[in-house]
Amino acid sequence: SKSGGRNRYTFFAPEMQHEALKERAVEQELRLAIERNELCLHYQPLLNAKHGKVIGAEVLVRWPHPQRGLIPPFEFIPIAEKTGLISLLDDWVLETAIKQVKTWLKQDIPAVTLSVNISANRLNQKDFAQFVQEKIKSYHIPPDFLCIEITEQNMIENLDNVQSTLCHLQQLGIKIALDDFGTGYSSLSYLKRLPVDKLKIDRTFVMEMHEDPQDRAIIKTILELGHGLGIWVNAEGVENEIQIGMLRELGVDEFQGFYFSRPLPREEFEEKYLAQLIA
Ligand code: C2E
Ligand code: CA
Ligand code: CA
Ligand code: CA
Repeated sequence: SKSGGRNRYTFFAPEMQHEALKERAVEQELRLAIERNELCLHYQPLLNAKHGKVIGAEVLVRWPHPQRGLIPPFEFIPIAEKTGLISLLDDWVLETAIKQVKTWLKQDIPAVTLSVNISANRLNQKDFAQFVQEKIKSYHIPPDFLCIEITEQNMIENLDNVQSTLCHLQQLGIKIALDDFGTGYSSLSYLKRLPVDKLKIDRTFVMEMHEDPQDRAIIKTILELGHGLGIWVNAEGVENEIQIGMLRELGVDEFQGFYFSRPLPREEFEEKYLAQLIA
């Protein structure tokens, strides 16, 4: 993106010309940041399309860097995926989200379900379901306050593993969302084989739906497919009222997008969205 471009050039010392060296440097710094608890989460509200109230939030990781400001995920997630550090990051995000739900429940703040992005990397590790189960148990939160968002990227080789991991999690009461739906090569077979509670229509379809009948046709089909299977359907990347009107008419269950809110720091999310649930 344009705004992120500038950072990319100032991110590294000029002598680190080599891509591999840059990645190594980011990896080391990111590892420290995770271990020192220096990452933070932003919360983007998920709204019920019928009554407009907040019913959850997607947690999105940010890296507040003393010299470089708030580093967006596209600057470090791909490197974390390449180096394997993503598993440590995913676990940190997951535990932090569970801890946050626990804090809300303890403080009598109305808690909402938090959706956490889990990489294919982490999802494919055998201990993942056990890890989640232990965290849910040790923080003692109702499991349906947690939703795991997965994408079909890189998952293909180990679909059996992923299937049993997700079934385990769903049986515990944790929700499963299939993210960026419709962008991969095998969306339908994932839908057939994996236990899915929620579909998230990729924002590339939503982006131009108000001027592109083909995008509308695709969204309509995804909704029929999802609803036919009894699955809740989210539309992300909602930016204007025309989209909202069309999506409502097509029967979308849940909205997410800049029109309603950007991802917010915790305090702001609590003030703007959770406080109104008390009334
Ligand atoms: P994603 O999972 O598809 O997350 C949604 C992204 O869309 C977020 O970008 C969000 O800020 C952006 N977005 C939301 N509404 C709108 C809108 O109306 N218009 C536009 N143009 N964009 C919108 P963000 O936070 O930069 O995250 C980018 C990606 O980085 C995420 O895509 C996800 O794949 C990854 N990511 C973020 N946090 C985590 C994390 O904690 N763990 C992992 N593994 N990946 C993460
Ligand atoms: Ca997501
Ligand atoms: Ca998405
Ligand atoms: Ca994505």
